[in-house]
Amino acid sequence: MFRRLFGRGAYLRFTAQTWDEMFAQLGRRAGGRRESGAFLLANRDGDPRRVIRVVYYDDLDPAALRGDIRLDAVAYGRLWDLCDQYKARVIGDVHTHGGTYVSQSSIDRENPMISRAGHIALLVPHLASRRAAPREVGVHRYDGAGDWQGSYASDAVRRVYVGRFA
Ligand SMILES: [Zn+2]
Repeated sequence: MFRRLFGRGAYLRFTAQTWDEMFAQLGRRAGGRRESGAFLLANRDGDPRRVIRVVYYDDLDPAALRGDIRLDAVAYGRLWDLCDQYKARVIGDVHTHGGTYVSQSSIDRENPMISRAGHIALLVPHLASRRAAPREVGVHRYDGAGDWQGSYASDAVRRVYVGRFA
């Protein structure tokens, strides 16, 4: 019952612990100077919106964070291996922007990390130097064929649930 009340309509659900840890890791990996990012995984057999594991780009490829974020085929191969190992699937990704800018850049829009309709790209502010609340993030749903739908502020709060009943 609580799960229906809390996070109904959410694209992504996090426990507070997973959310906080994600910011700590993204901020640390970026060193406050550059963007960092990660894939968001759900259990294959569980709730398809619940983030149960975060796989950081620089763990897939130590060179991934040079300036803009780029992952090669080897990094994606590692990602699919991890998904098999964890019995998980990729439901979204997250990356950091500087300042409060959580819209997508044209590069972001033209290069979905996973080109599958329904994939969620989360954008977090301040290079993740501190934890942000859901109202501060940008939530971008890929609808296929180059189309995205963005949610901000109170809309973002509806799309990202962080809390006990994640
Ligand atoms: Zn970006």
